[in-house]
Amino acid sequence: MGDGYNFEELKREILARSRASDWELAKKEWQLVAISEAHEPERCLCSHFPIIELCSISNRVTGVSVDVGNVCVKRFLGFRSDLIFASLKRIRKEIQASVGTDATAFFYEQGIINDWEYRFQQSTMRKRNLSEAQMATRTRINQKIIASIGRRGIG
Ligand SMILES: [Zn+2]
Repeated sequence: MGDGYNFEELKREILARSRASDWELAKKEWQLVAISEAHEPERCLCSHFPIIELCSISNRVTGVSVDVGNVCVKRFLGFRSDLIFASLKRIRKEIQASVGTDATAFFYEQGIINDWEYRFQQSTMRKRNLSEAQMATRTRINQKIIASIGRRGIG
């Protein structure tokens, strides 16, 4: 492959941490549980180096958690974690920007965004002209999202 992402290696490492020995079945045991950013570059389970944007995936059956990069999350779980990191960059630069659907769904699942905020996001996500009060709410939600992201190796 030559891109440093070794899918066979990822498969082997994931299977070693799964109950099932069948790849298609083993995959179902895993889910994305958190995202964070590394202070020092880390190595993905597939041996790719460096990764800064870390996705913690956890096995529901064995209880094991490991960190992998965006590329492997997409290949392995079919989940676009890169879009969530892109949203984060956007709202860090412009706190009044809309965080978008992928991040809204993810942070709601994580319990960072509550039910009321989830409905608020849904009704205002695509609006460009928010009222002052709506903009204040969006800003507060964005700040909450930014604050929830763990920074590994700091503090
Ligand atoms: Zn990888």
